[in-house]
Amino acid sequence: MSQETEHVQCLIIGSGPAGYTAAIYAARADLKPVLYTGIVPGGQLTQTTDVENFPGYAEGIMGPEMMEDFRKQAERFGTEIRFGYVTSVDFSGPPHTVVIDEHKTITADTVIIATGASAKWLGLESEQKYNGFGVSACAVCDGFFFKGEEVAIVGAGDTAAEEATYLAKLCSKVHMLVRRDEFRASKAMQNRVLNTHNIEIHYNTETKEIVGNGQNVTGIRVYNNKTTEESVINVSGFFVAIGHKPNTDIFKGWLDMDETGYLITKPGTAMTNIEGVFACGDAQDKIYRQAVTAAGTGCMAALEAERYLAEKEFAETE
Ligand code: NDP
Repeated sequence: MSQETEHVQCLIIGSGPAGYTAAIYAARADLKPVLYTGIVPGGQLTQTTDVENFPGYAEGIMGPEMMEDFRKQAERFGTEIRFGYVTSVDFSGPPHTVVIDEHKTITADTVIIATGASAKWLGLESEQKYNGFGVSACAVCDGFFFKGEEVAIVGAGDTAAEEATYLAKLCSKVHMLVRRDEFRASKAMQNRVLNTHNIEIHYNTETKEIVGNGQNVTGIRVYNNKTTEESVINVSGFFVAIGHKPNTDIFKGWLDMDETGYLITKPGTAMTNIEGVFACGDAQDKIYRQAVTAAGTGCMAALEAERYLAEKEFAETE
């Protein structure tokens, strides 16, 4: 049962680029935001190495360092950043109720959800070992590091198809590992893959192990589930594109979401179906999933929260 209760104007859940950007804007608007980081403070970017596509860092920056900069900037304007995990919500307000770590209850006039998404992984030990050292779940983020080299990508959906064609522009060859004898991707995306000369599709192929020299990836051991043959494909990069899972389970029953759990916002806004609750970043974006787009929607969410509170205050004083 909840023991302590506190009221805040603006509660931000999540500490990736969306959450921290929302915090910067909300703090500067004097909403005195309180931000709960979740289990992975800094979010997905703390699990990558170099980030070279975030505007403003001309020389690039390491993911964890960039998130440290975000955090400092949010704190500089007075955001209260706390380590904690949301365990339940009640959006029947406003005010809305959010329980942290099963014991602390917060009531909030506005809630900004920036809980992000998590890439799905194959679950191999070697995949974890080389994560950030040749293994990546984001071709747009890391493809550049494999310019002119041979890489492999696993997956057969739209993301894998899109990322394979993206990689094919940078890399000498892309091995695409498809576990069945057909794609899941749309026909249009499949055609793009099939018409790209330097993508080799390996059907009925499963990944057994990422092979490396202790520091970097040197290849992948694959298994053909039709012929039962095993072989090694020499590559320096291995991309996992088997889907993402938005971290939104806790909002089920309150917020509108699509069949895969992505929160649905009113087009062109960060507004959810519940008054005073806003969503930004990857929790509501299955198309772009970039740090810069997450930051952009974080800004939108904070500006909308501020506007919402101002309108409410005006209506109450009328
Ligand atoms: P999907 O769930 O659509 O596809 C996942 C793919 O990964 C499937 O082909 C699946 O294989 C494969 N897979 C899953 N687990 C494993 C495993 N353990 N080993 C090997 N392969 C595995 O995810 P996406 O991220 O591709 O797409 C998510 C949603 O986003 C879709 O609705 C998609 O249409 C949409 N999207 C749209 C885009 C666009 O319109 N431009 C771009 C990107 C995504 P199997 O088929 O055998 O199950």
